[in-house]
Amino acid sequence: HLSQKKSDLNQKIRVCVRKRPLAKKELEKCEKDITPVQGVRTVHVNEPKVKVDLTKYIEQHTFNFDDVFDVDSTNDYIYQRTAQPLVKYIFGGGKATCFAYGQTGSGKTYTMMDPQHGLYILAAQDIFNMLQQPEYGHLCAWIGFYEIYQGQLYDLLADRKKLFAREDGKHNVVIVGLKEYRIKNVSDLMQVFEYGNQVRSTGSTGANSDSSRSHAIMQVLLKPASAGKKKSVEPIGKLSFIDLAGSERGADRGETDLKTRMEGAEINKSLLALKECIRALDQDKKHTPFRQSKLTQVLKDSFVGNSRTCMIATVSPNQSNSEHTLNTLRYADRVK
Ligand code: ADP
Ligand code: MG
Repeated sequence: HLSQKKSDLNQKIRVCVRKRPLAKKELEKCEKDITPVQGVRTVHVNEPKVKVDLTKYIEQHTFNFDDVFDVDSTNDYIYQRTAQPLVKYIFGGGKATCFAYGQTGSGKTYTMMDPQHGLYILAAQDIFNMLQQPEYGHLCAWIGFYEIYQGQLYDLLADRKKLFAREDGKHNVVIVGLKEYRIKNVSDLMQVFEYGNQVRSTGSTGANSDSSRSHAIMQVLLKPASAGKKKSVEPIGKLSFIDLAGSERGADRGETDLKTRMEGAEINKSLLALKECIRALDQDKKHTPFRQSKLTQVLKDSFVGNSRTCMIATVSPNQSNSEHTLNTLRYADRVK
């Protein structure tokens, strides 16, 4: 079973589900948990499953994933089974992406970008430990942090400066003008991240003020230390943490406000394109629809060639979110 376990964690694409606990408010309203999870304690014997019981148990859906994390799973445990293998992978020169997908309030930010325990910080601890080792002494880490809102890129480390993506001659995606900081330790990273996170949650002229309407992308790049401050140096490894926009913003949700509907349509388009690209990746298809959205355009070089992808679909357990939960599980199910 051990070797099986190892190869599982190193699949090209992993799709996992995390279910958050019922919130205090939901408990006070006596909301029921309608997403029982099975097989979690014995992941390597039974297939991990999550069930959704809809309309008072008349309708039931069951899904299998690479991992299902129940309410008592910690970020540390989830890290070991999601992002940690990606960290090892980028030190071998690969590119990797870890996504959180799900409706607003389901735990995407808590999982990915919690300032203290988010996967990004757990990954950074490992990255700096590895950089201490003599065999990686020639590398150093850089960070960039930006968001995609309405198909437009904004630099979170440079007051939401507009950015443009293009491709260089070697099929690398270059985000022109993106501010990158060289970071030497975890506290450097936390500082830079906190700055960007504040920019993310404050609206500025015309830009978005609600983080659930944008995709946030935090990248850690491994570059040769000898290159000094030269920005044009190609990264040797790249790990992206992506806190996706809330998946509930359907264009067909009866939102009357034009701006809201346009946002919803754009988010839908990008999440759909993401699904198609990851699927194409898994099936080694010749044509992958990267150009269908800004999100997939900027991720193109993280998908082609040597790459690893891990998606964590986050779900709320309560009855009143059951339809969003079902949609999230269906989406994640089709990614693979
Ligand atoms: P999202 O980013 O998907 O909108 P958040 O990460 O902001 O959702 O989570 C919504 C709320 O639920 C937050 O108050 C967060 O602290 C809490 N929460 C989310 N996941 C968990 C969890 N696994 N355990 C405890 N609290 C959680
Ligand atoms: Mg969030």
